[in-house]
Amino acid sequence: MSLTTLSGIKLSIGKDEKSLVKLAEKRLGKKPAYFAIRKKSLDARDKGNLHYLYTIEFGDEPPQKKETLASLPKSRLPEKPVLIVGSGPAGLFCALRLLEHGIPSIVVERGPCVEERAKKIERFCLERVLDFNGNVQFGEGGAGTFSDGKLNTQTHSPYNRDVLETFVQFGAPQEILWLQKPHIGSDNLKKVVRNMREYLINHGGQVRFDSLLTDVSIQDGQLRWAAVKDLKSGVEERIEPSALVLAIGHSARDTFEMLLARGVTMRQKDFAVGVRIEHLQSAVGLAQYGKAYTQLPAADYKLVSHAHERSAFTFCMCPGGVVMPAASEERGVVTNGMSNFARDERNANAALIAQVRGADFGSEHPLAGVEFQRKLERAAFVAAGSDYRAPAQRVGDFLQGKTSSAWGDVLPSYAAGTAFADLNGVLPLGVCESLKAAIVDMDRKLKGFACPDAVLTGVETRTSSPVRIERGEDLQSVSAKGLFPCGEGAGYAGGITSAAADGLRVAEKLFTLFGGENC
Ligand SMILES: Cc1cc2nc3c(=O)[nH]c(=O)nc-3n(C[C@H](O)[C@H](O)[C@H](O)COP(=O)(O)OP(=O)(O)OC[C@H]3O[C@@H](n4cnc5c(N)ncnc54)[C@H](O)[C@@H]3O)c2cc1C
Repeated sequence: MSLTTLSGIKLSIGKDEKSLVKLAEKRLGKKPAYFAIRKKSLDARDKGNLHYLYTIEFGDEPPQKKETLASLPKSRLPEKPVLIVGSGPAGLFCALRLLEHGIPSIVVERGPCVEERAKKIERFCLERVLDFNGNVQFGEGGAGTFSDGKLNTQTHSPYNRDVLETFVQFGAPQEILWLQKPHIGSDNLKKVVRNMREYLINHGGQVRFDSLLTDVSIQDGQLRWAAVKDLKSGVEERIEPSALVLAIGHSARDTFEMLLARGVTMRQKDFAVGVRIEHLQSAVGLAQYGKAYTQLPAADYKLVSHAHERSAFTFCMCPGGVVMPAASEERGVVTNGMSNFARDERNANAALIAQVRGADFGSEHPLAGVEFQRKLERAAFVAAGSDYRAPAQRVGDFLQGKTSSAWGDVLPSYAAGTAFADLNGVLPLGVCESLKAAIVDMDRKLKGFACPDAVLTGVETRTSSPVRIERGEDLQSVSAKGLFPCGEGAGYAGGITSAAADGLRVAEKLFTLFGGENC
């Protein structure tokens, strides 16, 4: 069987991809029995010559199928259940991989199922009634479910490809397998996590919603039991697990506090804070692609600035999306971004954030970063009228340090409502100076970035975990054998793909620990 791979194939904008098959036919001298796009990226370096670059693969028959999940070697069942806390990407992918090794697990999730969760988030947006366990941070699918579902990552984990293939297996668009910048979109993500849930349950796993890990017992460096409370009935159950996978995400502050009190070793971790910035998507398209932007998917950008001693950068850019109310705590206002697969909303938004570290937190305490976040979120809550609206400001006014009184061409999309406020009074001085220098500097790289009518909404604080829960080579907590810190919350991932990859990594470690052998 011979397969031919051709890379660097140019296709001008709007040209039908069928011509790629024609190219393969010409090369093979006959219609290829097997044809696949392996890579697709947009080359926008020269606005006068925008084109796609492809890598294609074709031949007489498809390549030999990679070992499917179903064919993974099975392990003997551990005597006690595997308990996975959190149904975000880390927890779900860990549960799926363990299942494929023949080990069904119990997934406990403090939040509701995705259907219920969507209703609670809608209620927060419309009535500003916040559910502390059913919101943009907490609930089935984890933090990323109400997101743009961007899957690109800077990590080079051997599991990244498995993550993409698993998402497709459960209903994500096929194109994520070959696009340079794959995204699923929040609309698809909700279906994908529901399909994963049903698969786990139909194959002997358990997924318990509205179930909160409230306590753990550690004796002589060994995890003994975990207490899980059913938030609907109030009943608390003690579970003695063979392993507890702690995939709780970066916003589980009450759980961080409980674990620290129980002697689980953790330390502060640097992160970044700032605002969400919004422009008209059309303006970003024009700046990135010129007039041809109307023929192309919504344009994105990624910018960094060292114009100030404290660097600033854009993060989690959501083309054709909205700013999401991402609070999970009382009297706190938090922003993040979301897009549906079509990315067809009026605005483009991204986090505009500056690095913060220990010196900014004013204490060595492992949870000082959490307190730092909380303080900013509370200040934003008060600045916007203490009703979960968010403080917002025109860029032009932010640069001059004055409160806006009217919007210009760009209207804020923060779904729970905004109030005019001067963000200079909400964020630390050092962060404001860094963002101001960055806005002017980034305008040189992306024309119109400093447009006075662009909108800033605050505050963006949950950019990554403020703690790291220390684990050893065996991926177990350094202070509690049997406890496996996993994913973003534990400080070992940043983003959907790397969190899911860390979940797969922990599952493979457990498979080995339970005596499983990879063929
Ligand atoms: C609005 C938004 C948009 C985002 N957009 C993107 C994007 O486009 N691309 C990207 O790569 N990343 C994005 N992210 C970040 C991404 O979502 C996270 O990096 C990723 O979800 C981390 O996965 P995780 O499984 O480690 O934790 P999480 O997804 O945070 O999941 C943790 C889960 O644990 C549960 N939990 C916490 N404490 C307990 C407890 N005590 N008991 C039981 N359950 C508990 C939580 O309810 C939650 O469901 C976005 C995040 C947000 C909030």
